[in-house]
Amino acid sequence: MTDTGTGPAQLPPREVEVLVVGGGIAGVAAAIAARRAGARRVLLLERQFLLGGLATTGLISIYLPLCDGRGTQVTFGLAEELLRLGAEKGAEGLYPDAWLNPESDPEERNSQRYQVQLNPWHYALKLEELCLATGVDLLYGAVVAEVSCQNERIHSVLVQFATAERLQIQPCMVVDASGDAIVATLAGEETALYKQRNILAAWYRHFDGTTDHLQPLGAAELPNDEREERGLPPAATAERWTGVGAVEQSDFALKMHRWILKDARGSLTALPQMPQLRMTRRIVGVTIPDEDPEAVYSDSIGVIANWRRPGPGYEIPFGSLHGRRVRNLLVAGRCSAATERFWDQTRVIPACALTGEAAGTAAALCDAVPDLSIERLQEQLRRAGVQLRRPRSLR
Ligand SMILES: Cc1cc2nc3c(=O)[nH]c(=O)nc-3n(C[C@H](O)[C@H](O)[C@H](O)COP(=O)(O)OP(=O)(O)OC[C@H]3O[C@@H](n4cnc5c(N)ncnc54)[C@H](O)[C@@H]3O)c2cc1C
Repeated sequence: MTDTGTGPAQLPPREVEVLVVGGGIAGVAAAIAARRAGARRVLLLERQFLLGGLATTGLISIYLPLCDGRGTQVTFGLAEELLRLGAEKGAEGLYPDAWLNPESDPEERNSQRYQVQLNPWHYALKLEELCLATGVDLLYGAVVAEVSCQNERIHSVLVQFATAERLQIQPCMVVDASGDAIVATLAGEETALYKQRNILAAWYRHFDGTTDHLQPLGAAELPNDEREERGLPPAATAERWTGVGAVEQSDFALKMHRWILKDARGSLTALPQMPQLRMTRRIVGVTIPDEDPEAVYSDSIGVIANWRRPGPGYEIPFGSLHGRRVRNLLVAGRCSAATERFWDQTRVIPACALTGEAAGTAAALCDAVPDLSIERLQEQLRRAGVQLRRPRSLR
């Protein structure tokens, strides 16, 4: 029983097959995939009280493309299911009619990308509904505070609530979808920070008397080496944040708020509930994929589109979802492994859904990552509709 009258209480410990930390797009995809792949007890922990992470409470509601920009779809599976979930109900813009409307002329797909702008609040509720319908256990207000390891495995995870209650969880497998590789760091897995550090962003929403708009301040950022290649000057804002420390995150939020107040047009209708940090900390994976559209991986878990420009997309290796040190830990979303430059492609929403689906599926199929049969994982992903290779026409 919880005794909230006498101080911090310990909730009854829980054992789960798959523990997913972080309810952003990656965590939602991981939890759903784990259930669908047969795991019975799947627990999804989220420190906020809504799902979707940056895509919803962070107000980053543009679900980038699943296609190559020339009319061919490259990303499938849950990444497509989650895009459609947002497009069918609650789309605000960029509605990909040519892709969703069976009556439309397929030729139109050459000029329209398969992407959508979501309504964040509607989408958060639809994600929650889908998780519940799939049998995922959800726990909100839950902050992972400690991880203890034994024999190169995560043995238990301590969760802290704002109510001062604590919960000890003993997981068989863990998926770190925290965006900041929190579990990986606490478990002693090798990680790396974003060297270039983040520019300030401050996306907010306002009502202009007729419509509710998304206002994306600090909309785009290019990696420094790409700026140099294109002959562009260094990024406009001099100040940058790694985004991994508490004080730094708070400072980022304060500056974000100042910028919004200065820019504010119409009536403000929504503010970001989390700092809009693009890349903070990632794992150093067994494989570290680079921005190479020719790369082919025997352990491919699917293909992501190049969201910046038309192109054949990139295969993503399973080796980018785990490190070498912790046997029962997988990572998904914007904290999975990539080179500094390629991170800009792996961090976006469809890529997070893709890595989430693969990590959750893998977690349901094994007790330790080194024992996982890659063929079995790939077979399960194929059955779920994922295409592991670029379509033939793009090879
Ligand atoms: C300014 C900006 C613009 C962007 N533009 C686009 C765009 O136009 N289109 C696009 O597709 N992508 C864009 N992105 C990237 C994209 O939004 C994110 O990278 C993606 O949504 C990340 O998903 P995720 O699930 O990996 O992580 P997150 O969305 O960060 O989810 C992680 C979740 O984990 C929770 N969490 C963290 N720590 C803990 C803990 N200790 N305990 C419990 N829970 C925890 C968080 O509350 C959060 O809900 C942009 C990002 C930024 C910042």
